Amino acid sequence: MPIYEYVAEDPARKSCPKCRDGFETMQHLTDPRLEKCPDCGAPVVRAISAPALGRSMSSLDDRARAAGFTKLKRLGKGEYEKQY
Ligand SMILES: [Zn+2]
Repeated sequence: MPIYEYVAEDPARKSCPKCRDGFETMQHLTDPRLEKCPDCGAPVVRAISAPALGRSMSSLDDRARAAGFTKLKRLGKGEYEKQY
């Protein structure tokens, strides 16, 4: 089952610790995408991670994120790609 990452659409308006930094969830391909954070109900968007960025890169990603380099590039309706 693929793992999808979701992140709060507008963390400044509504988010919780879970969706503010993004969370991962396992879903079937046929499952509808999440539209709300299961914890706080804030609107969430699916973040698409490039497959080349495996877990080995996560510490780098975390550092980039901590430094505020995370950017979301809008791909289409309700879809964003994380850029580091
Ligand atoms: Zn939340």
